[in-house]
Amino acid sequence: MAIETTIQHLNGHSPNGVDKVYTNGKNGSRPIPPAEATENPYAIPPEESYDPAFESLVEQMLRRLGEDPTRDGLKRTPLRVAKAMDFLTSGYSQSLAEVVNGALFEAEGQEMVIVRDIEFYSQCEHHMLPFFGKAHIGYIPKGKIIGLSKIARIVDLFARRLQVQERLTGQVADALVEILQPQGVAVVTEASHFCMMMRGVQKQNSFTVSSAMRGAFKENASTRQEFMGLVTHSR
Ligand SMILES: [Zn+2]
Repeated sequence: MAIETTIQHLNGHSPNGVDKVYTNGKNGSRPIPPAEATENPYAIPPEESYDPAFESLVEQMLRRLGEDPTRDGLKRTPLRVAKAMDFLTSGYSQSLAEVVNGALFEAEGQEMVIVRDIEFYSQCEHHMLPFFGKAHIGYIPKGKIIGLSKIARIVDLFARRLQVQERLTGQVADALVEILQPQGVAVVTEASHFCMMMRGVQKQNSFTVSSAMRGAFKENASTRQEFMGLVTHSR
């Protein structure tokens, strides 16, 4: 049943053979629910879709896992997964320039700026399972500073992709170097990886620390130590 529905979606035809009207949802593919579905205001539009090709893949995966994608609890799962994955990988469709959006300011100071405990959520590229944790970021300006909220958004830009923690850490550092051309940048991330916690070695309490040092933080041990002393927690 559900497979037929999906194929009909892809062909752009509803089950009764009438051409659908499409609105400009994701990929221009969100069909307007049929009239009968709106009679009960609480009814879920049975044919609502977000990204039909992706939803079809999720449905196939559910079958492959031994599930019945037509049972009540799973009916809208392909749709939900499509939306969730689109959000969780939204970093691919954004640029650094869009995120920063000109929020740079002239500044005289040359003191270290530190933003600690920036939460992030990413997915490992090996298992497509979440890893999450905190990023601590420091930089020493050279004429330019950036709004603090933008730093968190830069972390999201790179976290919302399939990642390895080390690359995420380095990309955030390199992005800040590119934008600010500062005297130095330091990024430390601490993360727990579901692929380690739920499977494999099942080390629930381990976390992985990764660091990327650029400029003054790389060259000057006391600068690096000052930063590490300010961001390292006792757990
Ligand atoms: Zn993994």
